[in-house]
Amino acid sequence: MMFQACRHIHESGFIEFRTDSLTGMRARICPERLKRGIGVPDIPDYLPEGCPFCQELVTEVTPVFPDGTRLEIGESITFPNLYPFATYHIVTVITRDHMVRSFTRDQIKDALMAQALVLEKQPGYVSINWNYLPSAGASLPHPHLQGLSDPVPDTLPMKYITCSRDYFEQHNRSWWLELCRNESASERFLDGLNLFWYAHPVPVGEKEIRCVLPGVTVSDFKKSVDTFASDLVRILDFYQDIGHGSWNFSVFFGQDNERDFFSAFAILIARINPNPLSTSDTAFMEKLHHEPVILTLPEDIGKLWRNNHVK
Ligand SMILES: [Zn+2]
Repeated sequence: MMFQACRHIHESGFIEFRTDSLTGMRARICPERLKRGIGVPDIPDYLPEGCPFCQELVTEVTPVFPDGTRLEIGESITFPNLYPFATYHIVTVITRDHMVRSFTRDQIKDALMAQALVLEKQPGYVSINWNYLPSAGASLPHPHLQGLSDPVPDTLPMKYITCSRDYFEQHNRSWWLELCRNESASERFLDGLNLFWYAHPVPVGEKEIRCVLPGVTVSDFKKSVDTFASDLVRILDFYQDIGHGSWNFSVFFGQDNERDFFSAFAILIARINPNPLSTSDTAFMEKLHHEPVILTLPEDIGKLWRNNHVK
């Protein structure tokens, strides 16, 4: 059992309480709340004036690495974060364009490769992250990735590392293999992609989609960046098709000595589109209770995917 579920029926529908068997993390799924209609259909145009990531300014105002350079691959440009919140913190501007609706495979591939090349030189626990648009927490709308490295894993990847280590010690097999076996046979599996993608049964965010990567470390990731990028652009286009132009994305990596029991993995969640009232999709349940209220059943993401992307 990957998760436990318990459904509470009420007058206008149901609430499904779910608990992740590995980590004990919980979520409640309440599809009726979708009817509140707090999403807005489109995203505003953000003007490029004064944007430090646009071409005219990016090489003038952003910091450089100790050797005086920035890393340029394709359209992407990578440099240290001027306002870091990690021991090591870099930024990759993904595109020359200030506003992008649909990304190309090369744009995503080049930006991810740049992050991997810089981060693999760091000793710590590495993640590659993306807040897209201000309603997802981006301070600048110009598309950019953030790479972090710290001596200990952050709270969520720490749970997965320690719990999957415990699982391995108890069962003598990888939880990640069990996960893939279980999810590939479920309605949550997203077929027709290169890598293993599925809607996690106990999501941390709305319309959450995860990828279990073939490797463990950020150096391993270089081998699958190409196929990962092809998949990710299809999934981001799928998000656009179902009304989300804004998202959070993280890829978490482990260390060489964690190969037996851990797998690098990516989490993508859809966020509400930017809106004039600054209405948020995150409130006390998410911020204080650490128990997200989710609007879409993960099984319905699988259904939506199959209906949208008929091979
Ligand atoms: Zn810009």
